Amino acid sequence: MLISGRLPLYLLAGFTAAIGCWYLIYWNDEWIRVLGSNMLQISAGAVGAFWTLRVGLRSAGKREAFWLLLGAGLIFNTFANLQLLYKQLASTVIEYSVFSYVWWLIAYWFFLAALFWKFKRIHARSTRAGYIFNIVVFTVTAASASVHFVINPIISFADESPLVNLLTVVYPLASLSIFLFTLILYYSLLQQGALTKPLLYVVWGMLCQVAGDTGFAYLAQQQAQQSGQFVDVLWVLALLLIGLGGYYAGEGQTDPVQENEPDARIKESVFPYASIAVLVLLFVVSSHWEFNALSLGLLLLFLLIVGRQLRMMRVLNKLMGEYRYLAYHDPLTGLRNRIGFRQDLERIIANTETRAGLLLIDLDRFKVINDTLGHHAGDRILVQTAERLRRSVGPRSPLYRLGGDEFVIILTDAANSWCAAAADRILAAFREPFRFEDIEIIVTPSIGISIFPDNGCTSDDLLKYADAAMYLAKESGKNSFRFYDTELHAIMARKMKLENELRKAIERAQFKLHYQPKVELRTKRMIGMEALLRWEHPELGVVSPSEFIPVAEESGQIVAIGNWVLERACAQNKAWQDQGYPPLCVSVNVSVRQFQHREFLMSVHSILQRTGLSADHLELEITESIMQNVIESTDVLLALRRMGIRASIDDFGTGYSSLYIIPKLPVDTIKIDKSFIDDIDNRMQLSMLKTIIDLGLSLNLGVVAEGIESEHQQQVLIANGCPVGQGYLYSRPVSPEAFEEMLSAAGASGMDRAITAPE
Ligand code: C2E
Ligand code: MG
Ligand code: MG
Repeated sequence: MLISGRLPLYLLAGFTAAIGCWYLIYWNDEWIRVLGSNMLQISAGAVGAFWTLRVGLRSAGKREAFWLLLGAGLIFNTFANLQLLYKQLASTVIEYSVFSYVWWLIAYWFFLAALFWKFKRIHARSTRAGYIFNIVVFTVTAASASVHFVINPIISFADESPLVNLLTVVYPLASLSIFLFTLILYYSLLQQGALTKPLLYVVWGMLCQVAGDTGFAYLAQQQAQQSGQFVDVLWVLALLLIGLGGYYAGEGQTDPVQENEPDARIKESVFPYASIAVLVLLFVVSSHWEFNALSLGLLLLFLLIVGRQLRMMRVLNKLMGEYRYLAYHDPLTGLRNRIGFRQDLERIIANTETRAGLLLIDLDRFKVINDTLGHHAGDRILVQTAERLRRSVGPRSPLYRLGGDEFVIILTDAANSWCAAAADRILAAFREPFRFEDIEIIVTPSIGISIFPDNGCTSDDLLKYADAAMYLAKESGKNSFRFYDTELHAIMARKMKLENELRKAIERAQFKLHYQPKVELRTKRMIGMEALLRWEHPELGVVSPSEFIPVAEESGQIVAIGNWVLERACAQNKAWQDQGYPPLCVSVNVSVRQFQHREFLMSVHSILQRTGLSADHLELEITESIMQNVIESTDVLLALRRMGIRASIDDFGTGYSSLYIIPKLPVDTIKIDKSFIDDIDNRMQLSMLKTIIDLGLSLNLGVVAEGIESEHQQQVLIANGCPVGQGYLYSRPVSPEAFEEMLSAAGASGMDRAITAPE
């Protein structure tokens, strides 16, 4: 780092070389040697003072006080050397002047002030305990070493006038203070990432100054102090380095010098121990085994380290406590969390001889609150929910938040009637609306209850059963509770059976696709078909997709099944086209989980490639539930559109997003849900139906009515402008073979013939 300078560095090298030459030439003539080193110090001090004061005076801002103080220090240093020069020139004997000492002390005072000023500025930003500890350890080490090795010997040698004695003691003390402050400053600058190149030069300069002082003190102790020795080289260097700092500051080189973070950390943790090691070494080397400054320093360090160790243990214990709390508690409500719940429930199960009830509470439509009022409102409601639940069951029944809007209460020693009463109290507690910033919100809970040991004996089973009961409570109209019972058990058992059997269904070739035509209502011309999955299980019989698709969705198997369906449907459609039937578009149902799978687009693309079906003969049917992730879903839909694949919204009108969302989504068709067609004679439903048709047509979308079973329904739909339909009236979903017959029958009459279902 020190080598990256330019001109000033050459100057520095020049100065040092000059001293070296001077020394070599006049080795034997002390008078000339002293004169030379003195003049060099004077010029180095003057140059340094010029550079530092130049920065300090450039602007009157507070930042520059540091350089002004350093500059003042360098001026006084130069005074001291001038005084010495004067004294030397005035007499032939080389001796130090008391005045020089005074000037030097003033210079040191300015240096100290500068360091202190800088230190205060950065220290204001740092209060780390470890940092203060290191500084204290260092101070103790340096102080006891210098008292022992420098100050004590000087005091014992004292035989001159009191003023000279005072100065000889004060001088090393000042030097020691500079040393400490410099290191502390260096360390703080590193910590703050504020160590710049100019400051690094100042640090080196101060260290050189102190090294010179120490050398000088050592020589003085040996009664060998003379002017014009190696210490003078250090002093010249010190002045120049400080000046160089000012020079580079003037150049605006204020980028922090980088220090590797882990390195700094290692240094920091090793530092106190290294200090102790140094002091122990000094203590052993000094071979004074009595009580002295070194042993006092060692004792202090020892106590400091013990103190630090104790403090660290306390901090560690506190952290462990906090960690344990966080691991077992929910930060929002302060309730115990899922891990805490599992732990408690297992303990209760192991210790209880009687029954225990598990109440799983889930808020109805909580997502809507989060989506419409924001997460802050959602959080407030969760906190209030925790309070209401606590009030409903009293302080003694443990209450947990499992995550999201799911809470659990464990009722120990509880008969079924007790659990039912508790659930009733909870439902009653939610009758009063929640309040959030002047808005009143009605939030209702659905509660599922499982009983130990009747329903299960492990925490996993009990939770799973309470969850199943809660879902049923939601399905049967929400805002209610339900026990886990034999009926539910049968449902769960069936679900598990389906899940297991589904795993083998593809490889055992139990899936088949059936096709149902889509018809232009006015002409009854077939314009496309929907592929519908059929599962024929040897033992379970034909299982309806409405039953197994949700199970496959939940277990994630839908992705593999969905890909199989897509591939089959595309291959079949291509095969029909290859056989010469007029090209039609096949619609394939895609479930949310499949649609949101990260490899979905890739799979569709490669299936089209493999089967050779052109993209415009494939349509994907998705449901409104993809709206839960509008942004991502829109991206996928746009990508599909770019690939040339059409998309339609299936079962339109049953979801909560409906009308307003349609203009925002890049889809091509809406398929109106069968419930509207079923209720076509209901005036309200009919006007809804008409609105949907008009909206679709006005947006230039295809509109398909699902589940047309009667002529009457067909007539009403035609009268209201619905262009396309699908339903048993035309054909049930049929096997590929039967569908092919239908294709050839339609083909024989140019596709214009009315389709009749081949029963
Ligand atoms: P969907 O996509 O709305 O399919 C229409 C459903 O209505 C089909 O039931 C069809 O047989 C039935 N349907 C058609 N016309 C009439 C009619 O006139 N009267 C009556 N009562 N019903 C009619 P299906 O085949 O049982 O399928 C049920 C649901 O299962 C489908 O509803 C779709 O959501 C899902 N599904 C079927 N196959 C697949 C598939 O391959 N993948 C995915 N993800 N879902 C599928
Ligand atoms: Mg469909
Ligand atoms: Mg549908």
